[in-house]
Amino acid sequence: MKKLVGVVLFSFISFLVSLILQQYSTPDIHPDLDERVLDFTSAKGQEDGSQKSYAKDCLSRYESALYRKESPYKPSSYLITKLRQYETLHKRCGPYTESYNRTIRKLEPAHLTHDHKHDHHHETSDDKECKYLVRIPFDGLGNRILSLASAFLYALLTDRVLLVYDNEGDTADLFCEPIPETTWLLPQDFPIRNRLENLNQESPECYGNMLQHSRNSSFVYLHLIYTYDDYDKLFFCDQDQIFLQNVSWVIMKSQFYIAPSLFLIKSFEQELATLFPEKETVFHFLGRYLFYPSNPVWELITRYYRSYLANSDEKIGIQVRTFDPRFLTAAFNFTTSTLEAVPDTILACSFDNNVLPKINMNGSQESGRSKSVIVTSLTSKYYEKIRDMYWEHSTVNGDVVAVFQPSSEGGQKTGNKKHDRKAWAEMYLLSLTDKLITSPWSTFGYVAQGLAGLRPWILHMPKDEVVPNPPCTRAMSMEPCFQKPPLNGCKMRTEVDTGALVPYIGHCEDASQGLKLVDPNAS
Ligand code: GDP
Repeated sequence: MKKLVGVVLFSFISFLVSLILQQYSTPDIHPDLDERVLDFTSAKGQEDGSQKSYAKDCLSRYESALYRKESPYKPSSYLITKLRQYETLHKRCGPYTESYNRTIRKLEPAHLTHDHKHDHHHETSDDKECKYLVRIPFDGLGNRILSLASAFLYALLTDRVLLVYDNEGDTADLFCEPIPETTWLLPQDFPIRNRLENLNQESPECYGNMLQHSRNSSFVYLHLIYTYDDYDKLFFCDQDQIFLQNVSWVIMKSQFYIAPSLFLIKSFEQELATLFPEKETVFHFLGRYLFYPSNPVWELITRYYRSYLANSDEKIGIQVRTFDPRFLTAAFNFTTSTLEAVPDTILACSFDNNVLPKINMNGSQESGRSKSVIVTSLTSKYYEKIRDMYWEHSTVNGDVVAVFQPSSEGGQKTGNKKHDRKAWAEMYLLSLTDKLITSPWSTFGYVAQGLAGLRPWILHMPKDEVVPNPPCTRAMSMEPCFQKPPLNGCKMRTEVDTGALVPYIGHCEDASQGLKLVDPNAS
């Protein structure tokens, strides 16, 4: 009898434990899914123990397919091959490899760029192949992600190894290492590391400066931020790319998504067309390949997703980014806008495009579908108005609308780890939604739309407290905008309309001088 009671008690406790585990454990990883994820993200033919542990050290690489829908787009087989080749190159030339140790010697002052032809006579073929692109971040996290992805594209096109300089340690804190068995982080003892922070347009190594003064140096610094001048912009010209081919160390400070202008360089045209038959997928694929959230950020994402988004029939993301009017005037030549009418503008856009249901002023309706709305913004005031409206009223079609905002940080605090983790988690959460409304001029929103694979509705920011008509525009592609591209043709000819040269590059919906990749025949 005692034995029977013991067995029953044991079974009951086991049942309870399994129930609790089911509730709290991470979702089961389907073996096929595991293979599918690995297939795109890491070197083929290495499905040994180290490969699996590479995936598990980075939970998002392993689990993200459970949270996001499969992309409707497929990477070209050429892109996959190119990425595998890049991984091999990076492993061979990455930090502290024989090739790296040899090539850093070229940073000694005796090695000037004009010596490179001469150098090649002494090099082994191995050494010759190792060329580097060191990338210096600039601006907020959205800008950093986009400029890093497009720097990676440039590295792919020029067979360079991309090394990421990051003094504040943000990259390692926010993202998993993208390349197996090596690192993309610039070593702490990189010879000219202490100079990187101070490189600017006046530096003798600055490309624009070198051109004007016929200087030579042991590396070339590319200054691709908002202050760049016509000489710096010659980077986007064929002839200048020929020169850069022979430089072992190229250092790039960039805040922009430069991909559209890379497509306008003749010598890259064919390669890019083969890599990306669908032009609007450039960031979608490179972003998904490069940016897996680190484990702490992945925890933020999954906890929030399960608490607020998982169980709804439809998930909607609304990204509200407002800028200081002085910045808008300086950067885009916009007149000032007022912000009180932002919530009404969001609602008008949602109603016009069937993103959210209208409210019902005459009592309640039978319940319909459930919609979860995630609002991201530095302030809570826009979200509160939308949330209250759906709390205080039912909807015309009976849909139940729940509105949430993960954080309201008050201001931009780039460099603060906790703040940046939240910013990255929120961009990623937005990218897990089914429909997106974004703010104009914001790289934060561009990252979300590109990772999601969605063409958002871009808000028209209200002026003088009036809701604009129309309140928003559907983006013509999910690609980010290169907000401040070179406008002059190469060799400083008169201004050309770079948005009218080829059918797959147009001006951005939110920045008329900006450039954006589009698929002219896409529906
Ligand atoms: P952009 O300025 O809109 O192009 O985007 P960036 O990401 O480059 O810079 C804005 C920065 O402000 C972000 O990286 C965050 O640090 C912060 N920020 C702006 N909007 C939000 C938001 O909705 N949520 C959070 N958590 N941070 C935000």
